[in-house]
Amino acid sequence: MELLEKKIQKDGIVKAGNVLKVDHFLNHQMDIALFNEMGKEFKRLFADRPVNKILTIEASGIGIACIAAQYFQVPVVFAKKAQSINIDGEVYSTKIESFTHKRVYDVIVSRKYLGPEDHILIIDDFLANGCAVNGLLELIESAGASVEGIGIVIEKGQQMGGKLLREKGYHVESLAIIEHMDEKTGEICFRH
Ligand code: 5GP
Repeated sequence: MELLEKKIQKDGIVKAGNVLKVDHFLNHQMDIALFNEMGKEFKRLFADRPVNKILTIEASGIGIACIAAQYFQVPVVFAKKAQSINIDGEVYSTKIESFTHKRVYDVIVSRKYLGPEDHILIIDDFLANGCAVNGLLELIESAGASVEGIGIVIEKGQQMGGKLLREKGYHVESLAIIEHMDEKTGEICFRH
């Protein structure tokens, strides 16, 4: 998506450890005009899928998931990073290792909000090694729900998450795929 690539080129900052900071428009301050275009694009890319719910993970997936949900006219459920494994009794739970924080979280979704009747579109801000998305897939599997697709804002193509998910047959769509980024020069190249 050209608009997003331009924004990343203009405001993205390449940090050590293969981390891209996009706090200017995605992860801290949020550019809602851009989010709207991204939401519309997710709808276009998954238009043929019978999505009835969007699943994301707190915190930074929530904003874009909500805007996209307006185009799909479906609710959003976000997986919670749990302090204790008990919200309202019954939950599905899994563990997710955070790429940016280098720690493992227990992540939960209440059984009330995910079940065998659900057709899920996963949306998240970044795809790197795929831990976050794989955790969400585990929750969906536990619930007996179906996966209709995976929509990602920024995929880091040098990491294996996207490749492995596509090899498993998932329909993964990333609005921008980074081919290469250089922390010394700040250069960012995209895959097309
Ligand atoms: P994964 O689980 O695929 O390894 O990483 C995805 C998760 O880690 C995303 O939910 C995102 O919050 C975070 N993440 C991974 N790489 C980056 C990055 O380069 N920049 C930022 N801001 N977040 C990242």
